[in-house]
Amino acid sequence: MLVIQMEEQCSSLDVARVCDLLERRGRETKVVGDGKAPRIVTAGNGEEREILAGLPGVAGLAATKHPFPLASREIFPNDGVVDIASGLAIGGGNMVVMAGPCAVESRSQILETARGVKAAGAKVLRGGAFKPRTNPYSFQGLGNEGIALMVEAREATGLPIVTEIMSTEDLEWLEPHVDIFQIGSRNMMNFSLLKAVGRADKPVLLKRGLMATVDEWLQAAEYILAGGNSRVILCERGIRSFDKSTRNTLDLSVVPLVKSLSHLPVIVDPSHGTGRRELIRPMSLAALAAGADGLIIEVHPEPDAALSDGFQTLDLAAFDDLMQSISSLTQMMKTDEERRKCALKIAM
Ligand code: PEP
Ligand code: MN
Repeated sequence: MLVIQMEEQCSSLDVARVCDLLERRGRETKVVGDGKAPRIVTAGNGEEREILAGLPGVAGLAATKHPFPLASREIFPNDGVVDIASGLAIGGGNMVVMAGPCAVESRSQILETARGVKAAGAKVLRGGAFKPRTNPYSFQGLGNEGIALMVEAREATGLPIVTEIMSTEDLEWLEPHVDIFQIGSRNMMNFSLLKAVGRADKPVLLKRGLMATVDEWLQAAEYILAGGNSRVILCERGIRSFDKSTRNTLDLSVVPLVKSLSHLPVIVDPSHGTGRRELIRPMSLAALAAGADGLIIEVHPEPDAALSDGFQTLDLAAFDDLMQSISSLTQMMKTDEERRKCALKIAM
């Protein structure tokens, strides 16, 4: 990976000249920073260094061995904002709550949930149609029919939809129907699938692998970015630990940590992260206090009757109550942020 630092006084023509030279040699380019002194990042291995160094407007060149250059905040310092659907974006101060059942089960179940979560303030509807179940005899999801029901729920409510893709074979036909592809925890290291969604023109919600380190997770994101898809949202959903009192150990420390390492938005899934309905509320609030850009929460009209993950699912009333607390918390955090900015200005 090559980073080309442009001069402060460079013109847009200088930037275009560098990009054009690289692109004619089959290299993809990305211009970072639209103000003064932009940088151009390319997957080049350094062959073009001499020619590039002589071009007008080029201040310097550096080859980076960073394991996840496109995902890194070091190279891309500004908060990434991922456009989800018309008028809806996540990251850079836009907090988004995604909610819905673990799996689509029926028309009435998904429509009732979609209407309920929308009324409570959710901005994206979740619902799995292809379910990665541990046991082959467990409910596997409604497949294509489940996707059709998600599409119907979007039409009824206007909520964009997020759903899991498990196979590269489904990419082509699924892409026009979904608003966000979810890569589940079990597939975080399915490199063919990562490459496939890297070619897609839809945002990708990349869940942290069951046992993935932060480094592995960010390198998985890099696969998608390197494929040309810049709309990646990271999702912490708990990791395996020795303690079975919760389904997983929700690692909230990764929220500020990953946000310091990467510009990508980070959301938290307290349902899979804890596996316990009563822990969703405190962990949702804690995640937002830690700086998460959003949440993804399992909600069902009748959690005890759900075909999967009912034990970590809120009913509509509990979700509505949580959304009210979220609204108070985010308001409080905004006020506090303004106070801090003001205090900093006075100190300077
Ligand atoms: C899900 O969101 O329904 C799911 C299966 O999540 P994860 O991949 O985090 O287990
Ligand atoms: Mn689930």
